[in-house]
Amino acid sequence: MSDDRTALIIGASRGLGLGLTKELKSRGWTVIGTVRDEAGARRAVALGARAEQLDTVDAGSIMALSQRLSGETFDLVFVNAGIKGAAHQDPAQATPAEIAELFQVNSVAPVGIAREFLGRVRDGSGVIAFMSSDLGSITRTNDAYIPLYRASKAALNSLIRSFAAGLGSRRITVLAMHPGWVRTDMGGSSAPVGIDESVRGVVDVVEARASTLRHGFVDYRGVELGW
Ligand code: NAP
Repeated sequence: MSDDRTALIIGASRGLGLGLTKELKSRGWTVIGTVRDEAGARRAVALGARAEQLDTVDAGSIMALSQRLSGETFDLVFVNAGIKGAAHQDPAQATPAEIAELFQVNSVAPVGIAREFLGRVRDGSGVIAFMSSDLGSITRTNDAYIPLYRASKAALNSLIRSFAAGLGSRRITVLAMHPGWVRTDMGGSSAPVGIDESVRGVVDVVEARASTLRHGFVDYRGVELGW
């Protein structure tokens, strides 16, 4: 693989986004990672990334980033940022503000950001990837575990499919990715998969699917998941 590929990682301050930054850098990619604070910027820069400020639910912040990156061409835009939402995870208890925040951050903003940068993704070999979750699979939902988070990722998956269906003449590959259940702040310490193992698999999938124009919902081992 050539060493002149550039990735934009949305949400690179910690957890899987920081892990993706490290993995891509180790494979020779140039990485621009978005963060919300100085501590996150320091962690991304320490791995050799360029850090840029972005809050995914702030339209002004998205426009400002878009302008700062106007000259770039991306081989990969990876929208990773996400939240678990209210601890109770009960739709009956959720306030309108909790519901709005969860679906704005996890479902609507990611696809809006992808749309903003679509014109700068390399035609033919470019990839737009989203960090989804197998918990967002409707066909695999057979228990009552964290229903609000599940619904936000199911909505993300639906919006990803609409986005991919509306690409028109743009020849890029669109992936909804499941990283495994991973030991991060969100995944918790009892998760079975470490960050390094997850992101190695995720980047393997991204590199293997680039240029295929085969969209899909795929896990970090390359297994295709039911929507
Ligand atoms: P994490 O450790 O909690 O990190 C979340 C990341 O998202 C941080 O970089 C955070 O930035 C960023 N973020 C959240 N809201 C944001 C906003 N409004 N604007 C900009 N950045 C924002 O979680 P993680 O486990 O790495 O999860 C990353 C992604 O993987 C999420 O989409 C999550 O749903 C998905 N996922 C995780 C697992 C798992 O087991 N861990 C499984 C399936 C899917 P700050 O540092 O500024 O807060």
